[in-house]
Amino acid sequence: MNNVLAKLGLESDNLGACSGPDHWLNVGGEWITSLNPFDGEPIARVQCTNSGSYESIVVQASVSFRHWRTIPAPKRGDLVRDLGESLRRLKEPLGELISLETGKIKAEGVGEVQEMIDICDFAVGLSRQLYGLTIASERPEHRMSETWHPLGPIGIVTAFNFPAAVWSWNAALAAMCGDTMIWKPSELAPLTAVAIQHLANRVMADHGVQGVFCLAVGKGDIGALLCADSRIPLVSFTGSVATGRTVAHVVASRLGRTILELGGNNAIIVTENADLDLAVRAILFGAVGTAGQRCTSTRRIIVHESVGDALIARLVAAYKSIVLGDPLLPETLVGPLITAQAVAKMVSAIERAVASGGTLLTGGTLRPDVGPQFVEPAIVSVPSQTEVVREETFAPILYVMQYQTIEQAIALHNDVTQGLSSAIFTDSLRQAELFLSASGSDCGIANVNIGTSGAEIGGAFGGEKQTGGGRESGSDAWKSYMRRQTNTVNWGRSLPLAQGIKFG
Ligand code: NAD
Repeated sequence: MNNVLAKLGLESDNLGACSGPDHWLNVGGEWITSLNPFDGEPIARVQCTNSGSYESIVVQASVSFRHWRTIPAPKRGDLVRDLGESLRRLKEPLGELISLETGKIKAEGVGEVQEMIDICDFAVGLSRQLYGLTIASERPEHRMSETWHPLGPIGIVTAFNFPAAVWSWNAALAAMCGDTMIWKPSELAPLTAVAIQHLANRVMADHGVQGVFCLAVGKGDIGALLCADSRIPLVSFTGSVATGRTVAHVVASRLGRTILELGGNNAIIVTENADLDLAVRAILFGAVGTAGQRCTSTRRIIVHESVGDALIARLVAAYKSIVLGDPLLPETLVGPLITAQAVAKMVSAIERAVASGGTLLTGGTLRPDVGPQFVEPAIVSVPSQTEVVREETFAPILYVMQYQTIEQAIALHNDVTQGLSSAIFTDSLRQAELFLSASGSDCGIANVNIGTSGAEIGGAFGGEKQTGGGRESGSDAWKSYMRRQTNTVNWGRSLPLAQGIKFG
């Protein structure tokens, strides 16, 4: 069996998905094989949840919720603290498993676990800060206030590319807020989910609770069950715009709530006075990091015509030095794409970009000598924002366009349907402030002299337009996992009505 699985306490190559304090359920569904995208070899098999075991998982999460919501928030924070401590102890092997299963380089896999630890720390602090407002009442001898209560068992559906961190953004906050949860991970990264659930089971057992964190491994059908289930008041969904559209429709039709974290088409504007050293480094990390498979990956460069050629020359030179290879080796910068279909989509997008007037400046070559799912990251210069440029191709393709005025650059920037992350590289205070103003970037995240990817957990994370409008992680994102109650107390001896209404 794989050494990494053993380090994470997973004792078999055939793993039943689990839910419960310390045992592995026979979850009855089909078996899926987790493949290593580097060489296409199987890592281990995981059994999916079927409709029967799904039912018992939801019942468990619902029953557990009735108890968990009564535990004071700072005590719930203790559980989240211990989850964070377990992650600290297992940071290396868990990071390695993420790398093995998704093909992202190990430094990014370990970074993803660090992000989980950070959000646990954040949630522990928040567990003593679930503040509500007090509000001046218009009626004498009345007091108004707002209290925040746990919401219920919630659903968390995640994408393949952040198989651990996205769960934790939701899970650490939701657990601290008093919710229980059912996680439906991507079928392309089920092992990471099983490893995390295993770890969460041990933490729950140490605290004498069960069913706070539950797992339902499966394909889209299990995600669809969660979305349609009226016992689940909130579904936090991370994935493509196409799937998110279905999720939004299904959950809205039962008047449930969603947090939608969907695709992006992130751009960087590079102005005439930008620090090109800084810009090149940020563009490289943003465009080729995680092999272009981040929701925040840099996909478009909008550069001032006076520095366009210089920037392109430096980017092309930087791309030539990229080392493709085994994601677990320290010298590797770019790993494989997740599936053969992802490779085909990248090749087809480059062909379409060239057919619509673009010029392939570097990359785009298949590299079977490195592995079956390797393609060299590509830069394509395009004369305008053609249809393919406006789409999110989940691969390392960077489209470069040139502009003359900053207003033109911002218009091009915003002229896509997605609205996740954005950046400007400039030494002009005026241009930077314009970009951050209401007339600037229309994205959920807007950066100055920092690339589009690599957000910190302290800020609220999410995007506008077809990215879905959800916010997770820091700031006041915790409010989405609770219900708000407005309380009015009459401590007097009369019953004045609001708006001065006299009745009877
Ligand atoms: P995907 O949409 O193919 O799958 C996402 C999840 O949805 C998987 O777990 C899948 O099994 C599940 N699913 C499929 N059909 C479903 C249905 N009918 N109901 C409920 N769930 C269903 O996405 P992917 O290829 O795994 O991930 C890549 C996409 O995710 C990209 O578009 C990327 O930008 C986006 N993403 C967004 C963020 C963000 O925070 N905005 C973060 C990571 C990834």
